[in-house]
Amino acid sequence: MDSAGDAGEPMDNIHRDAVVIGAGISGLVCAYRLISSGADVLLIESSDRVGGVIRSETIDDHLIERGPNSSQGTTEFLRLVSELEIDAELVEGDPKAPAFVYFDGKIRPVPNGPGTFLTTSALSLSGKVRLLAEPFIAARADGGEESIASFAERRIGKEAAERLVGSFVSGIYAGDPRRISVQAAFPRLAALEAEHGGLIRGAIAKGRQAKKSKTIAPGPTPKRSVSFRTGMSFLPETLARKIGESLLLECSGIRISTEGGSSRYIIEFGSAAGDQIVTCDQLILATPAWAAASLTKKIAPELATLLDEIEYPPLAILYVDYAENSLGESLKGFGFLVAPSEDTPVLGCVWNSSLFPGRAPKGRTLLTVFMGGARHPQAASYEDAELISIANTELQRALRANAPPRVIGITRHQRAIPQYNLGHRDRVGRIESILAAMPGLMLTGNYLHGVSTGDCIKEAERIAKCCHRGQ
Ligand SMILES: Cc1cc2nc3c(=O)[nH]c(=O)nc-3n(C[C@H](O)[C@H](O)[C@H](O)COP(=O)(O)OP(=O)(O)OC[C@H]3O[C@@H](n4cnc5c(N)ncnc54)[C@H](O)[C@@H]3O)c2cc1C
Repeated sequence: MDSAGDAGEPMDNIHRDAVVIGAGISGLVCAYRLISSGADVLLIESSDRVGGVIRSETIDDHLIERGPNSSQGTTEFLRLVSELEIDAELVEGDPKAPAFVYFDGKIRPVPNGPGTFLTTSALSLSGKVRLLAEPFIAARADGGEESIASFAERRIGKEAAERLVGSFVSGIYAGDPRRISVQAAFPRLAALEAEHGGLIRGAIAKGRQAKKSKTIAPGPTPKRSVSFRTGMSFLPETLARKIGESLLLECSGIRISTEGGSSRYIIEFGSAAGDQIVTCDQLILATPAWAAASLTKKIAPELATLLDEIEYPPLAILYVDYAENSLGESLKGFGFLVAPSEDTPVLGCVWNSSLFPGRAPKGRTLLTVFMGGARHPQAASYEDAELISIANTELQRALRANAPPRVIGITRHQRAIPQYNLGHRDRVGRIESILAAMPGLMLTGNYLHGVSTGDCIKEAERIAKCCHRGQ
């Protein structure tokens, strides 16, 4: 073990049941659940704030989100909100708000039922006929891993795959549909084919099963899209308040080693109180994969190599404001996603001021435009002026704006969202088998079993339960 604490600096040497590293939503939920179950926990974070990529800010009376704009109201998310007694702060997006897909210079409604399927201009007549033939397409027999693009083309045809699925993959993962694995990123879709022979058959069978069993799932009813009155940051900030003094911000030079011959972990770091050494029985790394790789390089080099292989493409985000009356399209809906066939680095646009109240001043709007991702990584490093010009051109076409927008701000993520590319499932399997041989070391975060905020909460709660059992 490297020696900690330079001469003359204060040094604490304490033992905790568990140490969690990283105070994004994953680390906060994990630490909160462990503390609630009676464990003595320390949560350490390198930056000066909690929330990780979740970051809400008010600029010129616009409530912008530098990370997620909303979350699905999953059972775990809503249960946590209720336990924290912050239900009154929750805001819900209209569950019927339409989403749009953008191609050939126009936004078109994404069908969300039989009625809108018949009328939508998102698909041509032949595209609709091909999609309806899906139940007659034989299931793939070999069971091998497949990209979401290839899976969707095979099942619903090229046009629907491109416009309805490809745009969604770009929007959710900032990913490349030709590289994202259907089994890793959309396991439920893959299971519908594997278990029922197809998507439409599977959906019908699932609907029948649900009706037959007539059981109501325990817990709150899931909601399509939620946030908080003051933005997404309200959730991590509330968790941080509950965790209280067990949370240390601005920890630097964090190093991990093991106590010779035991499964105890030693964590050394610098903090406002001086250099510290903490030992623990359970160590949970809740950082992004690349940071977990650097933390585990010395104690588990093979694990570190696998973690380092996970790709996080860069992303640029622009926040713009139009006067409501300067747009030719009414902003009633979730926003639009861009079909990957379009020659633009714009991935999609969320209509924040239409989704939730209090996002923009009266008579104004707030729109969030995403650019870059796996298919256009270079765009994330364009100069501000270039990003603004691209967004302006595309929004003018898509929303028939008659004046340029006012730019509220720009965010750049050098490493945004982990990609569940082909090979991801296998990599996660290898990561988990290495961890199985290292008792007390656990990983949680968006690069393992789902990228969404709801998935992170679910996984962090599962890891906290595993730790609790291991105590
Ligand atoms: C731009 C963007 C938009 C998104 N939009 C949505 C959306 O609309 N809906 C949705 O459900 N999900 C969305 N997501 C995904 C979701 O928000 C994230 O997957 C989730 O918030 C990740 O949480 P996390 O705690 O796992 O990781 P992070 O938020 O990355 O937190 C990791 C924490 O670890 C800290 N850390 C890093 N290295 C160290 C170190 N060495 N020592 C100590 N601490 C360290 C970091 O500072 C950070 O606080 C979006 C993500 C991004 C990036």
